[in-house]
Amino acid sequence: MTLLDGKLVSEELKKQIAIEAAELLEQTGRKPHLVAILVGNDGGSETYVASKMRNCEKVGFKSSLIRYNDSVSENELLIKIQELNLDSSIDGFIVQLPLPKHINPEKVTEAIDYKKDVDGFHPINLGRMQRNLPCFLPATPFGIMLMLEFYGIVTAGKNCVVIGRSNIVGSPMSILMARNANPGNATVTLTHSKTINLKEFTLKADIIIAAIGQKNFVTADMVKDGAVVIDVGMNREISTETKSGFKLYGDVDFDNVAPKCSYITPVPGGVGLMTIVSLLKNTLSAAKKEFYN
Ligand code: NDP
Repeated sequence: MTLLDGKLVSEELKKQIAIEAAELLEQTGRKPHLVAILVGNDGGSETYVASKMRNCEKVGFKSSLIRYNDSVSENELLIKIQELNLDSSIDGFIVQLPLPKHINPEKVTEAIDYKKDVDGFHPINLGRMQRNLPCFLPATPFGIMLMLEFYGIVTAGKNCVVIGRSNIVGSPMSILMARNANPGNATVTLTHSKTINLKEFTLKADIIIAAIGQKNFVTADMVKDGAVVIDVGMNREISTETKSGFKLYGDVDFDNVAPKCSYITPVPGGVGLMTIVSLLKNTLSAAKKEFYN
């Protein structure tokens, strides 16, 4: 079994991003600039955004954080998004999800200028992704593709089962794996909570990508010998074992599943780190105007 080491891969990719950011600074006098909007005090969101900001600084980007408390109105947020859309000093921005219930995430996503949508959630980017056109790819699925590419994992012709169909992970993941590209060209089954007898599908899978949000959901009896298992889950539980007071668990019962796998991602130290690298790559692409003018 080989561990798919998100730390190793992300550090390698960040070195390259830092080189390109330095070149861009020399050519244009500007650093790539990412802005994050954070609404409320959700512990998970705080941690993810702080990590995104820290990583920007590490690779030589400028980063800015705009904070609102839970009571911010949808309209106020939409006005800020319009402001950022028009601000030429900003290359890309993200609105950290989840948002409070009174704010419609679809409205927020569609308000972001797709040319600055470095999370890759805007329908224009999703449509272009489906058509294999240059665009910002959604950060988590993009990170998984970079990981598969780094380890030279063959996906063409393989049976891939994606568990979970969210707009930000499962659905775009299934599109990327099925696209006529490398990695890609897999035969993909997209499963969800209404899937009957999930195990029947997962047992035939050469590649399982789990994005459910339930600790230890994928158990050893669901996985065939030699499978590649990608665990997207980030389930936070209160813990006295860590300094932060929280411990992260994946969607896969790692201890029992890992011995059966050819490759598997750990949690933490797997997909989460790749998500951040993808965001950096998208921000660099935005600053270089690689996809859109
Ligand atoms: P969502 O809650 O949006 O989606 C979960 C999906 O799982 C849904 O499609 C749901 O089906 C499906 N599901 C729920 N129960 C079952 C079941 N019993 N059998 C099969 N499918 C089921 O979650 P996200 O996609 O946003 O996130 C998934 C996990 O990944 C979370 O732990 C999240 O924290 C983590 N995550 C990690 C990231 C990273 O960088 N590592 C980034 C983003 C998320 P249905 O549609 O029918 O309800």
